[in-house]
Amino acid sequence: MYRISALETFIVRLPFSHGGPPTGFGGVNWGTIDMLLVKVTSTDGIAGWGEAFGFNICQATRYVVDGMIAPLLVGTDVTDVPAVTDVLQRKLHLFGRNGPVNYGISGVDIALWDLAAKTRKAPLSELIRQVHGAPPASELKAYASLLRYGEVGPLASNVERSVAAGYTAVKVHETALPCIAAARRAMPAQSPLMVDVNCPWTLPEAQTAAAAMQDYGIHWLEEPIWPPEDQHAQRELRSTSNVPIALGENAGSVVDFKRIAEAGASDYLQPSVIKCGGISAMREIASICQATGVKFAPHSPYFGPGLLATLHVCAALAPDALIERLYVDLPENLYGNVLTPRNGTLQIPAGSGLGLDPALAVIEKYRAD
Ligand SMILES: [Mg+2]
Repeated sequence: MYRISALETFIVRLPFSHGGPPTGFGGVNWGTIDMLLVKVTSTDGIAGWGEAFGFNICQATRYVVDGMIAPLLVGTDVTDVPAVTDVLQRKLHLFGRNGPVNYGISGVDIALWDLAAKTRKAPLSELIRQVHGAPPASELKAYASLLRYGEVGPLASNVERSVAAGYTAVKVHETALPCIAAARRAMPAQSPLMVDVNCPWTLPEAQTAAAAMQDYGIHWLEEPIWPPEDQHAQRELRSTSNVPIALGENAGSVVDFKRIAEAGASDYLQPSVIKCGGISAMREIASICQATGVKFAPHSPYFGPGLLATLHVCAALAPDALIERLYVDLPENLYGNVLTPRNGTLQIPAGSGLGLDPALAVIEKYRAD
């Protein structure tokens, strides 16, 4: 049995470049990658690191961790991580089953899993394997996830650059057919091309767009419909289109993922470990995928413990999953170059816990809180 003596948060803003005009999500251009780190320290002095959904919503998520979760957690026994996370879910459910409350719980859950594996001196993937029995992979195939460029020229040159860097699968965040066609031309014909449109269309609009994309060999079409929780429309699109559908980064709880899978609304489920309830939720969602035949395709455009957690979950439970790696250049990041794919693959860090701790000097240099 071990207890938590401290729970801390850090907002870190890392500069990046992406080889195109200013871009971002949520109505603002991103000058930096903003991440929210969570650190738990046990009474034995061992530190566990997590990441909660940050970007534009860092401050709101941070309040959840510091103001709502820390008072519930500090001093308590956290040996059984899924049980601890379940207690947090139950106590905080009336403040939102999706959004910052679940983001905060996700970050804490990841930190507690890191701590649990470190306490047992085991890699996290081994700890998950001991529960589920599947052999962990030592490396996973990654795909380059490009930010939105909105212009054929810079988009095509960055697709080419990612292919030259060794990626064999690419995702673009584009809605215009000329951009999608340009991306297809810029990469080998047999390489998977995914198209993420971030929820813009009505059902008829999505049907028209999906039909137009059929000639480009799209591996999956991600979040085609507004609103994202309209499973009826998603299912209807899937049944009337030949393009595979991917959904899930905006789902809330495990129950939401189960509904999507059981409704036949998607070919791929895309849980985001720093949004959906952490590693505890990812394990349950992987089980839902195994039970329903829906493919596991995590959402992971992250550079902190969220990416590491995704790697360990997939190494243990979904070794065929493609790992999303945001295709931007960071002059400095928390783990040096360790999480830069080589020949399109990412190695699973072999140390205990998540395998790597963030560099404290980088946190201090880019701290923004
Ligand atoms: Mg997406």
